[in-house]
Amino acid sequence: MEKAPINLMNYDAQGLAGYFRELGETSFRATQIVKWIHQHGITNFGEMTNLSKKLREQLRQETEIRVPSIGAEQISEDGTRKWLVNIDPINSVETVYIPEGSRGTLCVSSQVGCPLNCQFCATATQGFNRNLSVSEIIGQVWLASKKLYESSNTKRSITNVVMMGMGEPLLNFNNTVMAMKLMMDNNAYNLGKKRITLSTAGIVPGIDKLAEACPVSLAISLHATNNYLRDKLVPLNKKYPIERLLETCKNYSRATNDNYITFEYVMLKDVNDSVKEASVLIKLLDGIPAKVNLIPFNPYKNSSFERSEERAINDFRDKLYKAGIITITRKTRGSDIDAACGQLVGQVEKRRKNIQNTH
Ligand code: SAH
Repeated sequence: MEKAPINLMNYDAQGLAGYFRELGETSFRATQIVKWIHQHGITNFGEMTNLSKKLREQLRQETEIRVPSIGAEQISEDGTRKWLVNIDPINSVETVYIPEGSRGTLCVSSQVGCPLNCQFCATATQGFNRNLSVSEIIGQVWLASKKLYESSNTKRSITNVVMMGMGEPLLNFNNTVMAMKLMMDNNAYNLGKKRITLSTAGIVPGIDKLAEACPVSLAISLHATNNYLRDKLVPLNKKYPIERLLETCKNYSRATNDNYITFEYVMLKDVNDSVKEASVLIKLLDGIPAKVNLIPFNPYKNSSFERSEERAINDFRDKLYKAGIITITRKTRGSDIDAACGQLVGQVEKRRKNIQNTH
């Protein structure tokens, strides 16, 4: 049987170095390939002129550089761009680019659907199909860079990445970490580790592992101040309750030179938005270098929550602010094209519906 070609998009520099050593080449070839693919956007071996003809021929025979393709593009009136990224004949995920001042933040997906079933999230309604491969995660950055480069009237680039698209990145740990290593590689996208933020619903062992493997900025989807409510909103809480999660956050911050941790808190009308809850949150975050991002709830089809009143959001914010906690209300971006937090759906072949025991 013929061997399937190796997709070079699935490896970071270290992984590629291993491959080239096996071929009897120096590991410098890995640097060259990383540059061609990720810095220059080249996927055709013929154009890789600093590699010998013989090596290019060998690569053509044994390997491929396969990236996902863009199925559709939508541009919001506020400049936010959303791409539907086809990853196989049936499934697609969504990637969102959010321009703001000199910043350009790319929101990247890590799974097809999501198994966590958070009650206020559109992605959860689709169930879970599979983890994305490294090439499918870094491919979103590759495609977005290319798209931004091609629209020459906008001179926009990616300055920050947030792993906040579809899926739970810490349930796809190895692929997410390898993709983030490529984002950080100065021969690829050259993003500092503080410019990459990984958001998690609270996979405690994954957070501990991340501190060792790839200590990027961490965001926690907290959303409630007591276990009773959080068990309902974020069912993962039954496995990793608030106290344990916060202890883990404290350790993460310590392990990363007291870096701030961002706590995301979706504002749901009359569910979790009282000033009393803000007071409890202040106590919970005591001793953790914490910032809070309040996210006004973004509705989607058949969602059963409402967005908090603006006054409730401001009161909640002011309470935290007065206690010395840096608090911002996340601006709703791209909601006219369903690109805002919690609205991403892509297309997911339903294979498993919201199974809780996948982690
Ligand atoms: N699974 C990870 C990554 C998703 S990040 C996590 O849970 O952190 C997406 C962020 O948007 C999370 O904070 C999520 O809780 C929040 N979110 C989900 N649905 C939302 C909605 N309808 N409105 C506003 N924010 C939402």
